[in-house]
Amino acid sequence: MVTEEVVVRLDGIRKEYGETAALDGVSLEIRAGEAVAVMGPSGCGKSTLLSMIAGLDRPTAGTVLVAGRELGGLSEKELALHRRQKIGMIFQFFNLIDDLSALDNVALSAQLTGTPARQARRRALELLDELGIAARRNAYPAVLSGGERQRVAVARALMNRPALLLADEPTGALDSRAGEQVMDLLLDLNQIGQTLLLVTHDERLAQRCASRLVTMGDGRVSGEQKLERVP
Ligand code: ADP
Ligand code: MG
Repeated sequence: MVTEEVVVRLDGIRKEYGETAALDGVSLEIRAGEAVAVMGPSGCGKSTLLSMIAGLDRPTAGTVLVAGRELGGLSEKELALHRRQKIGMIFQFFNLIDDLSALDNVALSAQLTGTPARQARRRALELLDELGIAARRNAYPAVLSGGERQRVAVARALMNRPALLLADEPTGALDSRAGEQVMDLLLDLNQIGQTLLLVTHDERLAQRCASRLVTMGDGRVSGEQKLERVP
């Protein structure tokens, strides 16, 4: 059954930055179709956890399995390709490229995996349309609202049909209305099967979007609970 498939398995992850242990023995499993929210105080290791899963950085100890690949066994080049093909990421401050239009920001992530430009632009436009911002396709990030920027970022993250969508405080820089729209978008995506790992400070976002809550403290998982989604 598709829903039994393991998308992420972290085993005994430790990550040291100099003297600091940002992660101190984290094990976590995420199955296809789940929406997992991670909460915990600032500095407890949430973003470090996402960077381990995305393969943006490597753990000091422990193993990371994502979408069927053990990341420790991949070269830097293989890791980058795996990330582009299997993982979509959205961030608090959008991380769009300022001198590319909305459409080109989205299309670029498919071009980086070798999709021809025309085909990439066609899919980018479809996604912008699905996310309700096709009319803004030629606009540059500077003239987009925060909510529009985040929707462009979501479109970009979805371009390569990722096995896993990672979101690090995706509503953290948005006003409450734009935040709710992004929240609804993430919920819709999960309901059509997108596996989601979401870091947030926003209890409401977690309650609304996530099927499971993982609580962290001091580089460790301190609790886990199933959530009944609150509409
Ligand atoms: P959170 O996302 O929960 O706020 P982080 O994962 O960003 O926490 O950080 C966890 C700890 O690791 C913090 O003490 C932070 O200062 C440290 N840290 C994170 N990234 C780095 C880095 N690149 N270099 C040095 N220390 C880092
Ligand atoms: Mg963080």
